[in-house]
Amino acid sequence: MHNKSVAELSRELESGKVSSVELTQQFLDRLKAEDGKYNSFITISEEQALAEARAADELRAAGKATAWTGVPFAHKDIFCTNGIRTTCGSKMLENFVPPYDATVTANFKAAGAVCLGKTNMDEFAMGSSNESSFYGAVTNPWGLSSGDKRVPGGSSGGSAAAVAARLVPAATGTDTGGSIRQPAALCGITGLKPTYGRVSRYGMIAFASSLDQGGPMARTAEDAALMMNVMAGYDPKDSTCIDREVPDYTATLNEPLKGLKIGLPKEYFSDQLSPAMEEQVRNAIREYEKLGATVKEVSLPNARLAIAAYYVIAPAEASANLSRFDGVRYGYRCEDPKDLMDMYTRTRAEGFGTEVKRRILVGTYALSAGYFDAYYLKAQKVRRLIQQDFINAFKEVDVLMSPVSPTPAFKQGEKNTDPVSMYLEDVFTIAINLAGIPAMSVPAGLVDGLPVGLQIIGDYFSEARLLNAAHQFQQVTDWHQREPQ
Ligand code: GLN
Repeated sequence: MHNKSVAELSRELESGKVSSVELTQQFLDRLKAEDGKYNSFITISEEQALAEARAADELRAAGKATAWTGVPFAHKDIFCTNGIRTTCGSKMLENFVPPYDATVTANFKAAGAVCLGKTNMDEFAMGSSNESSFYGAVTNPWGLSSGDKRVPGGSSGGSAAAVAARLVPAATGTDTGGSIRQPAALCGITGLKPTYGRVSRYGMIAFASSLDQGGPMARTAEDAALMMNVMAGYDPKDSTCIDREVPDYTATLNEPLKGLKIGLPKEYFSDQLSPAMEEQVRNAIREYEKLGATVKEVSLPNARLAIAAYYVIAPAEASANLSRFDGVRYGYRCEDPKDLMDMYTRTRAEGFGTEVKRRILVGTYALSAGYFDAYYLKAQKVRRLIQQDFINAFKEVDVLMSPVSPTPAFKQGEKNTDPVSMYLEDVFTIAINLAGIPAMSVPAGLVDGLPVGLQIIGDYFSEARLLNAAHQFQQVTDWHQREPQ
């Protein structure tokens, strides 16, 4: 069962060949037996999962099932889950049990899905390797057989590793600068960052609120579409969520791609990309030509400024968002504070890890009087130029294609002492968040036995088209079905 997709598991349940309780127990047993190798889960919520499975079986018996009723999945530990600890990868929230559900959590519950637990992540979603988690690094299931421990990418590395290792068929992720797409690429799975405002951020612990967006991580584009059917939609509890009709994302998966106009941003095929990676990405694009698409070069002249702008804007927003973790209302509080100031300073010094502190310092500096205009305001102006580049490109083409990451999964410890080399992991993904447009990562090849992702970037609210393009590719290739040894 663990090799089946969400769509297949849904059909198994529908046919009555297996009950949700049986399926859930199988997945839980496998998860408990295997996850020691990957550390992809922070919390396994066995009791709640079995209760949800029993309820799902009853719903199905009553003829009230949806595609998700009784299907197991997992949440990134950034989504609040009522009664289940939600840590965001931080010591700060080690004992935080939310008294409410995130809207995304509530949506999966309403669809009858069975949440097995909460997946590991970089602390407060800051990172590209899952090494900044207070709960330990996650190991990529790929490359393990050669004795190397490789990173799964980040920050949704637990979700990506768990899906790749077949511990769950699908998991939620969030993407502020690449955190769905880059781990999906490094673990050989399919991930989608939706348009900013398509998926509610209510109850999703904030990192950089103008960039954060939740989305699906699964093995196939079809499963990602099934997840989007549950995740997307207007939510009055998130003031940036957009009130716009949600299509059935599975309905257009089989549209032919003949005539699809693909643009290749020349700035994304630069010398930052290794030749072996470039070859895999170009092979994938040739598959699209065989499916009837046309390809032309386009330019995103301001893309080279994206990392610099992001590493002002994201830390600035983070420094404000994380000010709430002060020992008063949430989570960790230092022992025996002498006075209020001592409590604030020691709580934050002890509760946050190195990378989070680095971001808070950078963000506070960029927002301070005297530097606001030079850094924050300037970065916002650059952001607008980057957005305009994409708007211009989509006047000429339907989608853009590029690599997701400059290299395949790197070794644990290789980059975590050099923050800038870690930040450069997102050189092909970050501009998309600044512009607010959607993009996918689709398994598209192997380099040295490690997965390579193809990035498909679309105009605002073009998720259905991206999923269609990914699904058609998956009908003629089998990269998404490859298993780590
Ligand atoms: N790697 C980027 C960062 O560290 C993006 C993280 C994310 O998308 N959450 O900020």
